Amino acid sequence: MCYIILNIYSTGTNQAPVNQPHHLLRLNVGFIIGQSIGYHREFTFDHPQLTISSELEVSDFKGVVRIDRTQQGLVMQAKFHGNTRLDCVRCLGETVVPLQTEFDELFAFSKRSVTESGLLLPEDGHIDLEPILREYLMLEIPIQPLCRPDCKGLCAECGENLNERVCEHHT
Ligand SMILES: [Zn+2]
Ligand SMILES: [Zn+2]
Repeated sequence: MCYIILNIYSTGTNQAPVNQPHHLLRLNVGFIIGQSIGYHREFTFDHPQLTISSELEVSDFKGVVRIDRTQQGLVMQAKFHGNTRLDCVRCLGETVVPLQTEFDELFAFSKRSVTESGLLLPEDGHIDLEPILREYLMLEIPIQPLCRPDCKGLCAECGENLNERVCEHHT
């Protein structure tokens, strides 16, 4: 079984990292619009390192997106997984947290068909996955990440990491 890890950290800016091409999460689906109903196409993603919306650092990012042409619009079925790095709330040690998400969305051809997500297919025929993916992945991030379920944390008196050593306060 594979799973995903997202590295999350805040860069404090709204700019994409200089060395990351901007189009990695942009899908050109314009050609699907002209296909008949029932046509579908899959897009795969595989990036060792990816920054999503300038705030989610993801490693081993993998995913597959299936786009189906329907009467109302393009239906997206997406599955992603990756790893992120977070600090354990008990011992403050860095820990790798696997994240995965699956979602379906309709990109409607017209306002009449939009679902509650309110997504319309952009006129340029390109879907920008980044904001959508960010939203879904943020939901997967644990509020209180732990390096392991039984993390013993730090000693309140001397600050010793009790996973590594037992201090005089805990004998
Ligand atoms: Zn810990
Ligand atoms: Zn202690």
